[in-house]
Amino acid sequence: MRKFVYHFNEGSKEMKYLLGGKGANLAEMTNIGLPVPPGFTITTEACKDYNEHHQYLSDDIYAEMMTHLHILEEETEKKFGDTTNPLLISVRSGAPFSMPGMMDTILNLGLNDQSVLGLVKATNDARSSYDCYRRFIQMFGDVVFQIPSYRFEQALTDLKEQKNYTLDTELSVADLQDLITTYKALYVSASGRDFPQDPFQQLRLSITAVFDSWENPRAAVYRRLHHIDNQLGTAVNIQSMVFGNTGDTSGTGIAFTRNPSTGENLFFGEYLLNAQGEDVVAGIRTPEPISHLEDTMPEVYKQLLEVAALLELHYLDMQDIEFTIEKGELFVLQTRNGKRTAQAAINIAVDLVHEGKLTKEEAIMRIDTAQIDQLLHPSFDETSLHAATSLATGLPASPGAATGQIYFNAEDAVDAAERGEKVVLVRNETSPEDIEGMAKSVAILTAHGGMTSHAAVVARGMGKCCVAGCDSIAIDETKKVMQSATATLKEGDFLSLNGSTGSIYLGEIPLVETEIGGHFEELMSWVNEAKKLVVRVNADSPDDLEVGLHFGAEGVGLCRTEHMFFQEDRIPHVRQMIIAETKEERMIALAHLKEMQKADFVGIFRAANGKPVNIRLLDPPLHEFLPKTDRDIEKLAREIGKPAEEIKQRVHDLAETNPMLGHRGCRLAITFPEIYIMQAEAIIESAIHIHDEDIAVYPEIMVPLVSSREEITIIKNQLKEAIQTIFRKEQLVLPFDIGTMIEIPRACVTADEIAEEAQFFSFGTNDLTQLTFGFSRDDANKFLYAYQEQKILPTDPFQSIDQKGVGALVTTAVQRGRMTNPALKMGVCGEHGGDPASIQFFHRLGLQYVSCSPYRIPIARIAAAQASILEEREKVTV
Ligand code: PEP
Ligand code: MG
Repeated sequence: MRKFVYHFNEGSKEMKYLLGGKGANLAEMTNIGLPVPPGFTITTEACKDYNEHHQYLSDDIYAEMMTHLHILEEETEKKFGDTTNPLLISVRSGAPFSMPGMMDTILNLGLNDQSVLGLVKATNDARSSYDCYRRFIQMFGDVVFQIPSYRFEQALTDLKEQKNYTLDTELSVADLQDLITTYKALYVSASGRDFPQDPFQQLRLSITAVFDSWENPRAAVYRRLHHIDNQLGTAVNIQSMVFGNTGDTSGTGIAFTRNPSTGENLFFGEYLLNAQGEDVVAGIRTPEPISHLEDTMPEVYKQLLEVAALLELHYLDMQDIEFTIEKGELFVLQTRNGKRTAQAAINIAVDLVHEGKLTKEEAIMRIDTAQIDQLLHPSFDETSLHAATSLATGLPASPGAATGQIYFNAEDAVDAAERGEKVVLVRNETSPEDIEGMAKSVAILTAHGGMTSHAAVVARGMGKCCVAGCDSIAIDETKKVMQSATATLKEGDFLSLNGSTGSIYLGEIPLVETEIGGHFEELMSWVNEAKKLVVRVNADSPDDLEVGLHFGAEGVGLCRTEHMFFQEDRIPHVRQMIIAETKEERMIALAHLKEMQKADFVGIFRAANGKPVNIRLLDPPLHEFLPKTDRDIEKLAREIGKPAEEIKQRVHDLAETNPMLGHRGCRLAITFPEIYIMQAEAIIESAIHIHDEDIAVYPEIMVPLVSSREEITIIKNQLKEAIQTIFRKEQLVLPFDIGTMIEIPRACVTADEIAEEAQFFSFGTNDLTQLTFGFSRDDANKFLYAYQEQKILPTDPFQSIDQKGVGALVTTAVQRGRMTNPALKMGVCGEHGGDPASIQFFHRLGLQYVSCSPYRIPIARIAAAQASILEEREKVTV
């Protein structure tokens, strides 16, 4: 018979797919002897079974669960639903991958009007017993019947106002009993039924509600954002309760073994005395820093430090630990690898190597390339910052600077972002329902909650700027205004946030790019040792190239020369070149353009300082350069002294029905050879100029959109002849290569022929994807989302290479190319050159390099290193 329920002592950390991350770690901690309250886990397989049977928990699984519940009763010497010493349990979700706050949890289950009396007897603490009961009604109502939590919170606030209390702890036993009556009435009016008194019914409903929460919209959005498989399902953890709300020697908290924002090796965390777990996570009360616990409960603090050290050593990673103290006794409720900022991830990984706990390769594998983007976040322009008005300071919950317009709920934030605004989401505290709004915002500000509140944790995971717990501002979410001591801001007003310092400022402050600090350089030096792929940059200007070099680019993989033609002062000459009716006329325009291009190439070669520079000859359809409006046509007519009618006719003649399949790329050189010849001359003359400055130079001249050997043969011969003429004149020979882009399916299947004529192949995977699928790269987003939703395609093939189709063509081209030209240099310059999954594929194909935009370079380098470490590991295991 299949086993669907595991007691904690039956599992291990390796079983996370079956027991979920939380269940697997509870099992592991139980087995290494940590103080974990006993319990058991209902597996993710049970969740799948439940879904397969149309949301019905099978009797077999229920019976198996009951067996474990009885064992739990024996272990705790308590009885479920008992009126003298009742066993109370928590029912918590736990998926194979951590999804903080996305699914549901119910605490204090097993309480009813009778067992609460038993709890009073057993604990001799009426106040906390009734407090547990009212919390249970609220959580059960929220999770099982979707009665919004704020309705219960409102009843609590009303009672406190009526009694003139400021703190929850001022509520008396009688107040709590009244509150329970109010909660039960609220429950009846909202759900249309009585609050269930039968603890077994409470349990069954709670288990199925947790299974259902796998499918709730916020969890689905989270899975989509984090690429988590929808089929995995969640486990349910049932654990005997320990109580952090039983007075001032009790409490609850969250601790990180290292600082999750900076990575500093210092114990970090927060706790609340006399509180239950959800109080810290929900950010309703602002917690104390963990260091204060050393003063209030030194013994517990010492024990907690020992537990933290042991767990970090056991998991060899920074841990995020949830704990409860019940009357001076410490219990560990959860441990997991802590979420951290990208900077912290790098610093922790490198420190763990220095501490002898990880190898360099393991440290590199720990880096999540998707997160590295965070490091490239901008900061405020210093001068503008000095002039800015500071409004308030909260907690620096997630680093980076951001500026945008404020919105007070997730829906408005999503709408504004869709209108193209940069949005700052402003909330009292965020909850998992806000996930889509958070994803669409550039920053998040909350008035309540600490460094481990929902807003802080989720923002860090998303790499988004967040200031939390900014309690000197008052936020009215209904009226959509926020007020600081000096200003009132309404919906749509501009606000600027610094998530690294916690400061918030009035208005819009310009942003500048930041420096990467900490152990980044050291990690990247290990990356360079590990990777085999060279990483180049796609750069059309010396400035782009400088950024790329700063991030470690090893050359230019693609310089798109048409981007140089779009500048204001060049356009008339480009247009004249196109409009020209004779070759002589065209040559005059080309002579102007040649001088301009030379200036660009000299700048790029100088910056490249001997690194290879791949320059692609003109690619786009000619009509793209031509004027469109009558006014522009008349202006051009005046500039080049031609009748406007003539120009209009020429524009008309050049227009194409399918420009992407039209007169572009090397087809231009077949009809107008002088264009490419001019460009090749400009490249070589600039190279000579740089050589004369005593700087090494190595140009690669790339012919785009080649589909046959004949095209490249004709063009190459023309270019070579022009280049030889220059060398003869200058009495100098410099090294250079001529090669092709491979971006047309026909080029892939005839690559053996093309390779005989080319010194390199650079895969233009953007066009290759477009032409292989027949999907327009400019419009496919209109339907690609549906292809992903319906699982026709796993990802957007313009972002991550389609290995089966486009990848197979690349493979064919590589094999055929090598067959006839073993010295052929091969790389990728399409967008895929910066995508980690694609980089892994290209590494395995044995390409020499990938090329990507400047800000992707660090990601590409790390991905290249990870690809080669993975390959080495596989060799060892084979
Ligand atoms: C490509 O097609 O992949 C490429 C790099 O060229 P472009 O994007 O300029 O067409
Ligand atoms: Mg292309």
